[in-house]
Formats: sequence, structure tokens, C-alpha cells
Amino acid sequence: MGFQVIQPIPSPQDIIDEIPLPADLLRLKQDRDAEVRAIFEGKSSKFLLVIGPCSAHNEDAVCEYVQGLAKLQDEVADTILMIPRVYTNKPRTTGEGYKGMGHQPDPQKEPNIVEGLRAIRNMHIRVLRESHLSTADEMLYPENFPYLEDVLSYVAVGARSVENQQHRLTISGLNVASGMKNPTGGDLSVMFNAIRAAQIPHIFIYKSTEVQTDGNPLAHAVLRGALDPAGNNVPNYHFEDLIRVADMYEERELVNPAIVVDTNHCNSAKQFAQQPRIGMEVVYSRRSSETLGKMVKGLMVESYLEEGSQSVDGGGYGKSITDPCLGWPDTVTFVRKLAETL
Ligand code: PEP
Ligand code: MN
Repeated sequence: MGFQVIQPIPSPQDIIDEIPLPADLLRLKQDRDAEVRAIFEGKSSKFLLVIGPCSAHNEDAVCEYVQGLAKLQDEVADTILMIPRVYTNKPRTTGEGYKGMGHQPDPQKEPNIVEGLRAIRNMHIRVLRESHLSTADEMLYPENFPYLEDVLSYVAVGARSVENQQHRLTISGLNVASGMKNPTGGDLSVMFNAIRAAQIPHIFIYKSTEVQTDGNPLAHAVLRGALDPAGNNVPNYHFEDLIRVADMYEERELVNPAIVVDTNHCNSAKQFAQQPRIGMEVVYSRRSSETLGKMVKGLMVESYLEEGSQSVDGGGYGKSITDPCLGWPDTVTFVRKLAETL
């Protein structure tokens, strides 16, 4: 066998005992979960903004960024609910090299998953403590989810994971909003199968026990654009794309039909500066159709302190080491414009 044991991994309970979520922060998170739930259940007309860097690799920079978001959140609180993207398991597209803070708390040092699990839990809790904004993360590895299960207000399943059974089953046991992305090839029926699988109960192995889940009624579609067989970007945020997804929802027995549009990735062809234009188009589409007005619940935006991206060892503070992000001044302008338009 080509495996060498490096070190044993503490159980989720061990790490949670070591880094507990204080009761006041838990209450805060639960209140925010209820606000998010109300959006997906159609009881609140607030617009959801899952926003932040592609990957959160530097705790101080992430916290500084989220402090800014928290001020902006106060300004736009009548119309927008923000959830900071604090993505801690973001690998490079090929999986080569950097795999996110969960594997590598310091991108310049060797991987250390035990320290990584501590670092990601610490960072999510610090963000919540300092900004009072509970966070989103991507479920890259369902087996790592228990280390964060009490702190997240939004969970995304990425384009490359959405066909995976373990991801779908794990999401079916969550009681927070969970976005299922369209796969990279763009097949929307795959995304809908994932939403269906996440919304119904399952029996499977979780944390080394046999469990039964309730099904997650807050599992919904996230459109991130696609690549065609020739490798060209095919966006799926335009009015006609959204209507097609709404029609596909209509044909299926799913609860809380909802769409979140990812403004970067194959929707922008990673032209990060296009995100405000794309986001505004989505908001105009929403205003042109009663169905979309109800169904399009929000946007997912990649934004950080500094615009663009750098290499893993670039060393720039507050600048993405994975996908290129919108910079802070443009983010502020965009969020204010969104709030005025909604
Ligand atoms: C992301 O959210 O940063 C990401 C890479 O998403 P996707 O799974 O859509 O590629
Ligand atoms: Mn990204």
C-alpha cells in the first residue's frame, strides 16, 4: 500500500472542546441562520450576498476584509444579507500544490492537517466574533465538515463535487442553506439531481456511525457557468438561462426553489472585474420576471482587499492566491449599487 501514516487526527469533538463556539456567538449564528432560512422560504425579500475571497489563506487579512463587510452590511441592511465566504479547503484547479488552509495553515510551510483543522475553526469563529457575520465555506471534504458543523451559515458544494454521493448525503443532514453548483460541463440535470438528493432523507455512514438524515429543504441551485467540450466558457447567468432553470424547477418536486448566481468562475471567464456588471444584469433580470424575482435569491461574489490574484508565494496582503477577486473599492461601489437597485 502506498500510504504512510503521518499523524492521527483528533476527533471533531476533541477539536470542538479545544476551540468551542461560545454560547453568545452560537445564538448570533442561529439568528442569522433563521434570517437566511426566511429568504429561502420566501418569507423575507432580502437579497443574499455570499461574498469574499476565493480562498481564505491569511486569517488577519480575512478578518480585516470581513470587518469592512460588516460596516457595509450595516449600510445595506434593509435589502441585503451578507455571508462572508471563508473558504478553507480551496485547492488549485488541478489539486497540485496548495490545497487550502485546512491542509496548509501556512501556505509557505509543509502541510499539517491537524493544525489546519484548528486553524480553520479558529478563523471562522474569529470572523464571527469580530464582525458578527456568520460564514460560508465549501464542503470540499465531507469528512472534514464535522469540525465546522456548528459554525457555518452557508455551505457550498462545488462544481467538481456535486455528483459525489457522500457530498449529497452529507448536505441532506444539514439545517443551513446549501448551494449545489452546476457541474463544470454545465449539465443542469446533474445539479438538479444533487438538489433532489440533498432534499430527501438518507441512511449512511457519518462520523463512523450509521445515521439517518432529515433531508435539507434549503438545498438550492448555484449557477457558475460552464465549459463546453472545446473548453470555451459558457455563462449561465443571462435572463434566458435563469428562466430555463426556473422551468426545470417547475418540472420537479423540490421545495423552496431558489437560484444563487456565482458571478465569477465560468460566468465571468474569471474576468473578476466583470462581476459587478454580471451581478447587476441578474438583478435586472429579476425585476423583469415575477418568477425570477422570487426565485433568484442572491449572488456569490469573489472579492478581497486587493484586486486580482497572485502566486501562492506572492506575499501580497489581502490578495487571492487562487481565483482573481474584485478589489475592495470596487466591492463597496458594487454593493451600494446593488442595494439601490434591489
Ligand atoms: C469557488 O467557489 O471558488 C469555486 C472554485 O467554485 P467551482 O466549484 O464553481 O469551480
Ligand atoms: Mn474561486
